[in-house]
Amino acid sequence: MAERDLVAVASHTHFDHIGCHHEFECRAVHSAEADLLANPTRTNTLADPYVTDEIFDALPPEPYCSTCYAVKKAPATRILDDGDIIDLGDRVFEVIHTPGHSPGGIALYEKATEILFSGDILYDGPLVEDIYHSNAADYLTSMERLLKIPVRVVHGGHFPSFSGARYRQLITDWLHEKQKTI
Ligand SMILES: [Zn+2]
Ligand SMILES: [Zn+2]
Repeated sequence: MAERDLVAVASHTHFDHIGCHHEFECRAVHSAEADLLANPTRTNTLADPYVTDEIFDALPPEPYCSTCYAVKKAPATRILDDGDIIDLGDRVFEVIHTPGHSPGGIALYEKATEILFSGDILYDGPLVEDIYHSNAADYLTSMERLLKIPVRVVHGGHFPSFSGARYRQLITDWLHEKQKTI
């Protein structure tokens, strides 16, 4: 039995990150996506168009149906903003607001270990920058900010975890690519 509440922290509110949020009593999300967590739809969580039978190796049991699947409402019990601290007792994470992929995207940073949970703003695979609430200027600002943080290990929203060296390389490559297209 933990002394502290078990808290589900949403890195952001796309369906592939919040599908079980309603099962937790304590739920945290950035203020810019609090409304999405409270009022999710198939469209605003991107279940439509991304949830299809093809994304499964084996389909969940009926009555599951890909074209009707929707995330359940899970209003936040704690609203997060940049600089907030999530204190687990023996570990402490700082909230870093990283808009761009989505407006309320956050990363969690543990200073003591230099571990970063980056969400979908950065992982070692193709990034998604062009969905309905993505913002290119915010994305750029977030990447420039992330580059300044001393990071040793990154656990991204997708794909395997990677080192701080790979982190800096991914961001630097991304920034170079953007400079070419401006
Ligand atoms: Zn996402
Ligand atoms: Zn995702």
